[in-house]
Order: sequence, then structure tokens, then C-alpha cells
Amino acid sequence: MSQGVLEDIRSKALGGKRLDRDDGGLLLTEAPLLELGALARDVRFARLPERVVTFVIDSNPNYTNVCVTDCQFCAFYRKPGDPEAYTLSVEEVLARVASAARRGATTVLLQGGHNPALPLEYYLTLVRETRRRFPEITPHFFTASEIRTMAQVSGLAVGEVLDRLWEAGQRTLPGGGAEILSERVRRRIEPKKGGPDAWLEVHREAHRRGFKSTATMMYGHVEGPDDVLDHLDAIRELQDVDGGFTAFVPWSFKPGNTLLEKWIKEVKGPNPYLRMLAVARLYLDNFPHVQASWFSEGKRAGQIALHFGADDWGGTLFEENVHKAADYVNTVTVEELVTLIREAGFTPAQRTTTYEILRTF
Ligand code: SF4
Repeated sequence: MSQGVLEDIRSKALGGKRLDRDDGGLLLTEAPLLELGALARDVRFARLPERVVTFVIDSNPNYTNVCVTDCQFCAFYRKPGDPEAYTLSVEEVLARVASAARRGATTVLLQGGHNPALPLEYYLTLVRETRRRFPEITPHFFTASEIRTMAQVSGLAVGEVLDRLWEAGQRTLPGGGAEILSERVRRRIEPKKGGPDAWLEVHREAHRRGFKSTATMMYGHVEGPDDVLDHLDAIRELQDVDGGFTAFVPWSFKPGNTLLEKWIKEVKGPNPYLRMLAVARLYLDNFPHVQASWFSEGKRAGQIALHFGADDWGGTLFEENVHKAADYVNTVTVEELVTLIREAGFTPAQRTTTYEILRTF
């Protein structure tokens, strides 16, 4: 990639002009990593001038590992009837929420498998009771595909399920389950989950109703640069409609104990991650926040990510079971997290699920 081309992209990005697909392709495949990172950092400071990095105190419990969708990349799920299958009662889930609340959490990100035995009322009760018993906690519950499962089980449309969740008190959705929003990739790694629109439709309907959500991306398996660009184009386009995404959150695939493991020979290092993050900051010009995935990429990579365009450190994730099932574990305390952000040269600030600052350290 010539310096002239990079300079053109630099002028566009800093001049507030949208990057096109050719620009995105060059950045993903050819741009020198450190220059790309420096440009992403400049754009981050042009949009968010304060040297503040936010984080949320949260936990990520799971209500069931029963799932009928058989995604190739998933080490977490068990088929119905499996000896290791579990489904928590409403009270058992609320005990996990109580434990998060005792540790100072303001967000609980609750997800689970696609368990056809659970009625809609189960999910609604979880939201209602979390709101009633733990007003300090935002129920950041249920990814797009779980909401589709609720629609199938109840016979309601996706929009009607979202209306019921809203009535129960829910206002935000996690962005998991996007993986790579490309027909080709989704057919290969999660054929039963539907194409990109299965995920996009739920977020489109949610944003229309006033919900906020995040957009995630799990890369590092069978995708190529075109698939990544399909993904970025899809979420950028949707964000233009209602602006309902608060942040973009990429992480790399963890192959341990998954059906895809045999295909993925090489464990990806931090460089592809930093490139992905920097490209996202430049390409997703309508996303307010880009999250550093300290959890899945490592704390040092998380610190470097703050110099590659990220402005948020994500959550404390007091409980996490999905990566753990792939033999990947990482933990952090609030004190350590504050130190890591400071060490990287930023002021740490605790935020809510929707990015309001609660406290600056
Ligand atoms: S990723 Fe989710 S939907 Fe896919 S198999 Fe795992 S639990 Fe089921």
C-alpha cells in the first residue's frame, strides 16, 4: 500500500468522510499496522477528545446450556437430555443476579442456549423480577437468536416479543450471536441460526422500539476480508437508521472443545485483533464507542487496544462460562482494571450499560 493511498484514507477519516469498501479492504489487508493504529487513535481523539476510558461492573451468568442449534464454534452448549445439560430456575438465576449486585455490578449480561422447553413467561419473569428486586442492575438480557427462540416458542412475532420484554422493564440487548454477518460464513459455522438478517432483524426491531444494543463480531475462523467488510457494512447501515448501537465489540474465536477446532490450526495473536479494532474505529464512523476486549485478547493487548482506537474497556465479567467451556479463562478485579487503564495512560471511569459516567477514578 503506497503512502499516498494511506494519506488519502487519513484525510477522509479525519475530515469526517465515510470510508468505502475499497478503503476498508486496503486497511484490512495492506495498511502497515502501526500507522493504521495511529490513525485510529487520532480519529478516536477527534471524536472523543477526553483521555477517559470507561468500563462497566458486570457479570455474565447463563440460565441454560441446553441448545438445539449446534453451532460449530460453540463449546458451551449441550443437547437436550445430555447428562451435563442444565437449566436454572428463575430463583437460581436471580441468586446469580443478587451475587453480582453484592459485588457492585450495575449490569448483568444474561445469555443462554436455545432451549425449546422454556416458555416466554420464564424470560419475562427474569426481567421483571430483576427490575423489582435489583433496581440498581440493568438487565442486559438475551441475544438476538434467543429472542427469535422466544418468538418461535410463543408463536409471537419478534417485534411482539420485544414489546413484552420492554413492558417487563428491559431496555438494552447484548449484541452476541452476530459472529460474522455474511451468508457464506454463517452457513458454514452456524447453519441452523439463519443468515445475517436473523440477527439484524432483531436489532432493527429493537432499535425501532427504543432499545439500545451492542454489535459484536467473532472473527478468526473461516472468514476472509470480504466477509468482515460485509459485517461492518451491515452494522454501519443499520446504525444509520436509528442509531441504536452503543458500541462495537470484536473478539477472536477460541477453538478449544469445538467442532471447528480441527480446522483452525493457528492460534491468532494480538496483531489481527489490533488491526480489526483499528479498522472498526475508522470504518464505523457512526458508532460512538469501540470496546477493547481485554477478556478475550488478554490484558496487555487490551491496554494496547486503547492506543488503536478503543475507548472502552468492557466489563469486569465476574462470572463467565462460554469462553471457559473452550478452556479459556481470564479474570480481573475493579482495582486491577483501574490500574491497567491508568498504566495505559488514561483516566478510568465507571459507566452504566448505556455509557453514562457514574464515577471517575
Ligand atoms: S452459540 Fe448459542 S446458539 Fe450456538 S450452539 Fe452455542 S448456545 Fe447454541
